[in-house]
Amino acid sequence: MLPPPVCITLAHLPQEIGGLFTRAFGPDGAGSGRPDGRQWIAELDALASRLMICSGNKAHLFFNGLSSCPWCLIESSGVLLFVDYTIVDTSTGFSIEPVWSRILGVPSPGAGNAPSLLTYLSVAKEFGQAARAAEARVRGLQHAWLCEASGEEFNAKRDELRALTEEYRKLPE
Ligand SMILES: [Zn+2]
Repeated sequence: MLPPPVCITLAHLPQEIGGLFTRAFGPDGAGSGRPDGRQWIAELDALASRLMICSGNKAHLFFNGLSSCPWCLIESSGVLLFVDYTIVDTSTGFSIEPVWSRILGVPSPGAGNAPSLLTYLSVAKEFGQAARAAEARVRGLQHAWLCEASGEEFNAKRDELRALTEEYRKLPE
């Protein structure tokens, strides 16, 4: 059975914890004896001393054996996991994390498909000068379409909001 696409897996935990999970819930667990409470406490205490705080979001704590924060990856998909631990401006009730999560949840419209008008023009070649002028105009319109409907404006706005969110997070409380 495969885990859901965006979630914490045993790969995000120390091997010892993964081993306890496998022994407790794997097919061999029932036969050979599951780990007891003391073993869990020992390994969870060991993990607690190996947690690090995410540089992007101080509500994120993760195993220091990982190269990057797994919670950031999950929340970048638009799922907000740490809503209760976000910083809220008590005078306005504003909290950046739910807002940023909703921003990330807005899908990009992507690039629009330019309508192809050149095929219609090819039948009009016999009209010489007028056809060439019309073709030049169509090429200009297609160029304008590609510039204005590329989806890059969306990405640029999202990058701008990401930078502002990071700036907001670094403000003193
Ligand atoms: Zn993080």
